[in-house]
Amino acid sequence: MPELPEVEGYARYFARHALRQRIVRVDVRDERVLAVRKEQLARALRGREFTRVRRHGKHLFAEAGKQWLHLHFGMTGDLASHRDKSDEPRFARVVFHFDNGAHLAFEDMRLFGVVDLTPSPDVYIEEHILGPDPLDASFTLSRFREIVAKRRGAVKSMLMSQDVIAGMGNLYADETLYQSSIHPRRPVDRLRDDEVRAIYTSMRRVLRDVITRREKGGEWPRSYLTMHREEGERCPRCGGTIVRTVVFGRTTYYCKSHQR
Ligand SMILES: [Zn+2]
Repeated sequence: MPELPEVEGYARYFARHALRQRIVRVDVRDERVLAVRKEQLARALRGREFTRVRRHGKHLFAEAGKQWLHLHFGMTGDLASHRDKSDEPRFARVVFHFDNGAHLAFEDMRLFGVVDLTPSPDVYIEEHILGPDPLDASFTLSRFREIVAKRRGAVKSMLMSQDVIAGMGNLYADETLYQSSIHPRRPVDRLRDDEVRAIYTSMRRVLRDVITRREKGGEWPRSYLTMHREEGERCPRCGGTIVRTVVFGRTTYYCKSHQR
């Protein structure tokens, strides 16, 4: 399931393959991914160029004149650029054709993704009540402290609530807490200040690390919890036991020994 680092990868891919080329046609192969009428989508984009890409959490936006294309990748969304029509991916749902002969497909096997238009990313973020993006320059430690100060309940729930922080999914929430040595059920209002700082630092380090590794086609480090998500596994950090539980309705792994 695409989370923030994956969507950052798609944003870079989009920028490499689809910016500053005239859009000659938009083909909708399956309307179920659209949150806009297909005629409206085609009319808004035809003859224009994508001039800018912006990512916020798990959402990707591309500016085209007065409107922005919005893409959400659901569970199986992906982008694929191709030149030859016969290379169009099997689950292409929307295909953008450019006048340089390239095509960009939004593919999505399971159809949980969304393609639509918005006047601007900021309007979309406000209307959909999305929290700040954890890698945004404005997401400082003091901003994070303010967010934490207003919250109650389990720390993992806070990290996963899109209206609090946009883009953190299950894997990244678990990894962040593992690396901060914090138990996923710790109440937010009982975190010490050095623990709030540890969460902030780990969250951004993990996200950036995975983005860089993905770009290079690399694996996750063996020292990451993500590589040991199995009940009874040995913790690579302290040799303790990895435990499985459910928090915020999601399967959660943590180390029984060093996460407190
Ligand atoms: Zn451990």
